Amino acid sequence: MTTQTHGFQTEVQQLLQLMIHSLYSNKDIFLRELISNAADAADKLRFKALEHAELYEGDGDLKVRVRADKDKGTLTISDNGIGMTEAEVVEHLGTIAKSGTKAFFQNLSGDAAKDSQLIGQFGVGFYSAFMVADEVEVHSRAAGQKEAVLWRSRGEGTFETGPSDKQGRGTDIILHLKEEEKGFLDSWKLEQVIHTYSDHIGVPVELYKDAKKEGEEGAFEAINQGTALWMKAKSEVKDEDYISFYQHISHDFGEPLTWSHNKVEGKHEYTSLLYIPKNAPWDLYQRERQHGLKLYVKRVFIMDDAEVFLPQYLRFVKGLVDSADLPLNVSREILQDSKLTQSMKGAISKRVLGMLEKLAKDKPEEYAGFWKNFGTVLKEGPAEDFANREAIAALLRFHSTHHDDTEHLVSLDDYVGRMKEGQDKIYFVVADSFNAARFSPHLEVLRKKGYEVLLLSERIDDWMMSHLTEYQGKQLVSATRGELDLEVSEDEKDAEKALEGLLARVKDSLGEQVTEVRFTHRLSESPACVVTSEHGMSSQMAKLLASVGQSAPTVNYVFELNPEHPVVKALESREGEAFDDSVGLLFDQALLAERGSLEDPTGFVKRLNKLMLGSL
Ligand code: ADP
Ligand code: MG
Repeated sequence: MTTQTHGFQTEVQQLLQLMIHSLYSNKDIFLRELISNAADAADKLRFKALEHAELYEGDGDLKVRVRADKDKGTLTISDNGIGMTEAEVVEHLGTIAKSGTKAFFQNLSGDAAKDSQLIGQFGVGFYSAFMVADEVEVHSRAAGQKEAVLWRSRGEGTFETGPSDKQGRGTDIILHLKEEEKGFLDSWKLEQVIHTYSDHIGVPVELYKDAKKEGEEGAFEAINQGTALWMKAKSEVKDEDYISFYQHISHDFGEPLTWSHNKVEGKHEYTSLLYIPKNAPWDLYQRERQHGLKLYVKRVFIMDDAEVFLPQYLRFVKGLVDSADLPLNVSREILQDSKLTQSMKGAISKRVLGMLEKLAKDKPEEYAGFWKNFGTVLKEGPAEDFANREAIAALLRFHSTHHDDTEHLVSLDDYVGRMKEGQDKIYFVVADSFNAARFSPHLEVLRKKGYEVLLLSERIDDWMMSHLTEYQGKQLVSATRGELDLEVSEDEKDAEKALEGLLARVKDSLGEQVTEVRFTHRLSESPACVVTSEHGMSSQMAKLLASVGQSAPTVNYVFELNPEHPVVKALESREGEAFDDSVGLLFDQALLAERGSLEDPTGFVKRLNKLMLGSL
């Protein structure tokens, strides 16, 4: 092995810059990161040794040791885990392999406070050592290898690799602490930080107290017990333990919103510990984002991000499952096809929905915060998880004509509780914006009757509502689609009779632009509106498809006229061009209200100008 100098990947250099200059508020976490890497290394060795017991080399007592040397000003974190080969050291400690790294760097704003939040979410990892050290050495001997490798860097663009004289298996990380960070050499400080972050990881962490001499009996003192937190009885675990464990597995600085710890017995036996975060990670909407639960089998760590245990719409959930039934050599492919994992996924989904239901009931304000961060993700639920549609629907929140503002949200239960005598349906409208929904002409008659209407305007809403047809036995009906079978009064019938010949003339004038022209009683203020047929494609869906580059079938509009509106009554007496222009204008304004834009704005402007000149 020769000594070589390597350059860091550009992203690593950027990360190091940020780490050293911006992330100063919470330096303690470097120890959490390094201890967590050491614990991961122990997990990995344990897993590999299941098939290759010889990798233990007679030393199966896996642990992490922390040692401060006040004379040298160094802090060393050692483990006897899997270790790294020369190639692995170069790859793992010179690049960032995580998916989404590029996107992460594009997300940085240049605002130090915001960016340090982002870094936290990204997982700061090994490089956080440079927050407190001006030089870092890594000595590592991989399990099964004879030679150890040295990695050394000052965090300034390059690192060096070469031979190391380390004997034992595993990794020593030696931090040469910056002058102003020497406080981390105090054992009380170390003890406190280790307690905070590493109390419940699955390997013992021992601290060498520098009052004693190395090699002496009892020189290292166990700080944590190295027992997996999730195996303890709930009554033995304090809230702060759950919170620090969350921070350990999620790399989130913040606290979780809520959690649930369960031991399931019976046909399948497993333990789950599930957390709902308070804050959304920066990459929640990135397609390639890793998500899922940590998987353990009988306390042996198997894999991160086991996504088979969670549906996509619950991808914000963090936590773990520890199964007693799965084989230790389980792979992602096997998990995918296993009946057992499918049944666990079903149970875990139910559990998470139950947690959210409880939160919504007991702590509505916290639930509102959750909804703000994760509501859009939850909206994928009705389409993805048919079996739990009703439970998901109960968790949805909507703007509504009841409050008529963007501040208040209502649930379907609120809505149902307020339904009028004789009202048997839940009405909603999907439009391009809150105001477009709120001022939609389709709402006029419903408002007049005092019926509440849910106002939806997010991109996903139309798609979501197409999968949500019923709640508590009540049909969900779009105010813009199909006929609203509302009762028609005698006056309204008379108004229609008076204009009998009009419909055919209007259809003639508009030709292929509409599939049908008919009278409506859903309007009171507006003269006309367009509706999409009950089973056809809606304008919002067509827009959504167009925005992702898909060709959508053309939307078939039905043109509806309000027979009681003076403008419509006035149509009757018009002839020829004046009739066509008037009909054109009515149709344009109806389209404008529905879609927010026109395909032929010039024609609209021409007709409007004619109108202003009084020639209509
Ligand atoms: P992460 O832990 O999220 O993968 P880190 O930056 O913390 O990111 O670590 C990068 C990689 O370096 C790890 O995935 C692992 O492969 C390797 N590594 C770090 N510390 C150790 C260690 N003590 N023993 C073995 N490998 C390690
Ligand atoms: Mg790490």
